[in-house]
Amino acid sequence: MNYDRIKDTVNVNLMQQSHVTIVGGAFQLACDLARCGMGSITLVDFDTVDKTNPARQDFDNQDINRLKIQATADTIRRINPQTEVTCLARDFCSITPSEFDELFGHTDLFIMATDFFPAQARGNTEAIRLNKPALYIGMYAGARAGEIIYHVPDSSTAACYRCICSSRYKAFQNGIAATPSSGGTIFDLHLIDAIAGQIALGILTRGSENRMGRLIEQLGDRNLIQVKIDPEYRMGQKDIFAKYLGDSSANFSFTSIALQGGYEKDCPDCQGKFADKVNNNHA
Ligand SMILES: [Zn+2]
Repeated sequence: MNYDRIKDTVNVNLMQQSHVTIVGGAFQLACDLARCGMGSITLVDFDTVDKTNPARQDFDNQDINRLKIQATADTIRRINPQTEVTCLARDFCSITPSEFDELFGHTDLFIMATDFFPAQARGNTEAIRLNKPALYIGMYAGARAGEIIYHVPDSSTAACYRCICSSRYKAFQNGIAATPSSGGTIFDLHLIDAIAGQIALGILTRGSENRMGRLIEQLGDRNLIQVKIDPEYRMGQKDIFAKYLGDSSANFSFTSIALQGGYEKDCPDCQGKFADKVNNNHA
């Protein structure tokens, strides 16, 4: 793989020494990280490609009935034979904590890209327990907007996924299921994944003297990114994008806002411990 055209932007050396674990979708994102020199990738998903998938996911007709992770692994190997790929056809929620340490103890970043809330929630508890960065990709109902949430333990991001999504946790506990993202096209998914990919590169090469290496420090404590896809998207009655970006007709769509996710002192997952760290660092 020749990295001449990206080496000024991405610390390819660091990428080659790094390992990412991707749970659920984000198949194109996995391939694109390999293009950026990703050293090793573990793909976790037990789904097979069905006949509705090629219309909105990165699979083709010949992949139908194959494990999604196997199809993705083949593509990654074609793109970059130097990227080591491990496939784990498992239900992420069924993996025991001791298996976790063995399977993921060496990972540098978890990318949680499932539309199954308990898996996203499990990602948060385990990432915190292992003291690893994690990135969560989510689409809103009908893929009219999406979000990227991330947490890096030793940076200025005080809020974990559970802090930021506490109302989602409560809704789930009350039996309210998340709204499905079906209706989204491949372009919607790629739009969100492309931004998630930038954040992933930022986390994996944080501190490098180039554009990607500076990204996480530039974001500071803003670890909730929301992306507008449908120009008419509203959260409830609120136009959250107009609130920050104004009501000019130039604020149309395909835009993002980067917000500070508020931490919760009594969050059952992080107990506000990252906020203490951030405050101490500032003192
Ligand atoms: Zn928390």
